[in-house]
Amino acid sequence: MKEIKSKIDRLNSKILKIEDDNYKELFNEVSSVLDGLSAKVHEIMVNEAVLAENLKYLDDDISDIQEELFEEVSLEELDEIEEEFKEVTCKGCGKTIYIEASALKENKGIPCPYCDENII
Ligand SMILES: [Zn+2]
Repeated sequence: MKEIKSKIDRLNSKILKIEDDNYKELFNEVSSVLDGLSAKVHEIMVNEAVLAENLKYLDDDISDIQEELFEEVSLEELDEIEEEFKEVTCKGCGKTIYIEASALKENKGIPCPYCDENII
């Protein structure tokens, strides 16, 4: 950007040396257009940098939200796992055992890990 600016400055100092008024006027017009364009480009570059910075913050925010969401999902999953287990008291030794609900339904004879007697 600085390079373009200094090129325009050099051009302007050359235009000052033009003796023909018509050419001088024409080149002054061209130079002012270039000046305007370079100012516009500079403005766009600054805006782009600001936007990039904002995007970075947005990206960080989204990452935080994603982390929170995944945490919640895994908590829900934990709840589901807990629901799948049933608390059963062994009629042989009176100890509490957690058994999968599906195993309780299908299997009539589950041995107690403490006393080896069938729990149900
Ligand atoms: Zn038992």
